[in-house]
Amino acid sequence: MTVIDGLDVEVYRIPTDKPEADGTFAWDATTMVVAHPRTVDCTGIGYTYTTSAAAELITDLLEPVVVGSDPMDVPATWSRMVAAIRNVGRPGVASAAIAAVDIGLWDLKAKVLGLPLATLLGAVRHDVPIYGSGGFTSYTEAELCDQLAHWVKHDGIGRVKMKIGTDRGAHEKHDLARVEAARSAIGREAELFVDANGAYDTKQAARLARAFRDVDVRWFEEPVSSDDLVGLRLVREHTDIEIAAGEYGADLVYFERMCGAGAVDVLQADVTRCAGITEWQRVAAVAAAHGLEISGHCAPTAHLAVACSVPNLRHLEYFHDHVRIEAMLFDGVSPARDGVLAPDLNRAGLGISLQPDAAKYRTDWSPR
Ligand SMILES: [Mg+2]
Repeated sequence: MTVIDGLDVEVYRIPTDKPEADGTFAWDATTMVVAHPRTVDCTGIGYTYTTSAAAELITDLLEPVVVGSDPMDVPATWSRMVAAIRNVGRPGVASAAIAAVDIGLWDLKAKVLGLPLATLLGAVRHDVPIYGSGGFTSYTEAELCDQLAHWVKHDGIGRVKMKIGTDRGAHEKHDLARVEAARSAIGREAELFVDANGAYDTKQAARLARAFRDVDVRWFEEPVSSDDLVGLRLVREHTDIEIAAGEYGADLVYFERMCGAGAVDVLQADVTRCAGITEWQRVAAVAAAHGLEISGHCAPTAHLAVACSVPNLRHLEYFHDHVRIEAMLFDGVSPARDGVLAPDLNRAGLGISLQPDAAKYRTDWSPR
């Protein structure tokens, strides 16, 4: 029997093209942890955007249960990984680490079978709608408007998202002025989404939702903290703008609580944070049981195949940072065309490989 006989891990750190911030966080670089489970003949690739601590966790806790496993039995290996991190805790770094390996395991299985991952998982659709996402609070108004208008008018992406909630919601008028400027820049037809990353309190968010309605905002993401399920529900009941959250979720209990609380109109989940493709499909099922659609958060290349596989998909987030990084580091990334991404069915697995040039972003992290 062919078994997985190795699991290699690398850490990359990629500076942003400009300083970036949202309502509650600022950053100038992104860390990507890449996992390569391999058999004697094939090597898989999976990744997550997180801290290098995930690389440590992979070599310390996951490698021992992955090496020796059957590359066909991804859910069995996934279950052993979840069991292996029990005492570390499931959310956060551990689920990001599992995600990188799980995505790599699915990529590896597809390559062993000589199939595109979208074909292995089974497709509901052959392309997925995307929305352009960026519009950081650190951008000037001109930078914000240029970026959003480029997606709409140049790339043909008919929906775009901007960050709001500057300085934890301290500047409501400023936020509203930027949203109005964005609407002017993209025209009346494109859908405009806003993301506060939990920067507002409930009454503030409800007040702003009323104002956003006047500029036809369609999606209000994390108006309050995604931990405040009552607050999310109150904002949701106050407006007909769709409320979305879920990007930090790691397991089914988290998503079930969010859906069961009536907190969201669309559930978000991040395949690189919620323990990978194996769990993302089940998260989609939790959403479906509540009559909700699911939207993939960031990392468009990692989501593409699994997004094709679930019936209740809304769209994928075409996030500026990750679009840039994935194009810089990988060969084989599917380009955005007419507002959709389509997996390349002529390539096995995820269809990507690291470019030789990626080496310049590789950190000196190595297993002890
Ligand atoms: Mg968000």
